[in-house]
Amino acid sequence: MSVSTLTIDAAELNRRFAGAHPAEIVRWAAETFGNGLVLTSSFGAESMCAIHLAISVRADIPIVFVNTGYLFPQTLAFMEMLRQRYQLNVLEYHSQNDPLVWLTVHGESNPRIRQNPDACCAANKNEVFDRAMRDLAPMAWIRGVRAHQSQARATMQIVEWNRRTNCWAISPLLGWSHKQIFQYMKQHELPFHPLWHEGYSSIGCNPETCTRPVAAGEDARSGRWAGMDKKECGIHLDQGAGI
Ligand code: SF4
Repeated sequence: MSVSTLTIDAAELNRRFAGAHPAEIVRWAAETFGNGLVLTSSFGAESMCAIHLAISVRADIPIVFVNTGYLFPQTLAFMEMLRQRYQLNVLEYHSQNDPLVWLTVHGESNPRIRQNPDACCAANKNEVFDRAMRDLAPMAWIRGVRAHQSQARATMQIVEWNRRTNCWAISPLLGWSHKQIFQYMKQHELPFHPLWHEGYSSIGCNPETCTRPVAAGEDARSGRWAGMDKKECGIHLDQGAGI
């Protein structure tokens, strides 16, 4: 069955799933899209929540992992540990750029900071994500976004058509709070990213302008591009990194 032959009444589904447990949403997605379903994961702080939900309904679900070339070594080690422990079907897509060469060519003289993070995200994250989605051409894509994380995410729906990837975007955790994620992780004894224990509540790339730890009481995503207007890398936005 192709996307075009599927009848998806998103408005009805979003009414039905309002307040539903994420497991119910993921089960519906697996039954509806079958092998046409993929998951994206950054293997970040609490990524095991979405991964656990997804592999509970489809053990071999393809998990798209974007490697920008600037990830923390702990993230790569965490991904590898999870891949082996849970037999994950991780599809790792890399930036086409050599990390050091790209910085030099684009005038980024200090690898610890980014003067132009939008350009870096466009070249090293969004291009990779778009290539992965073109390559896999899924019918639907499960993502781990939550409404309270940013203004852009607050406008998202649990089930919505994503023009950029030409597939359905399914956000089973959209309505969950940080506390609910934490409780789910504890209930299922799921591992947190090793840097989570050092105050990194949201983990992207390693420049200190892209990810820093947050203090008690700070918003969980306040350590991402701290002090900048930028709130998203762009892969969850229809228009990409031009933000
Ligand atoms: S998060 Fe930072 S290092 Fe990673 S792609 Fe974006 S700007 Fe570049």
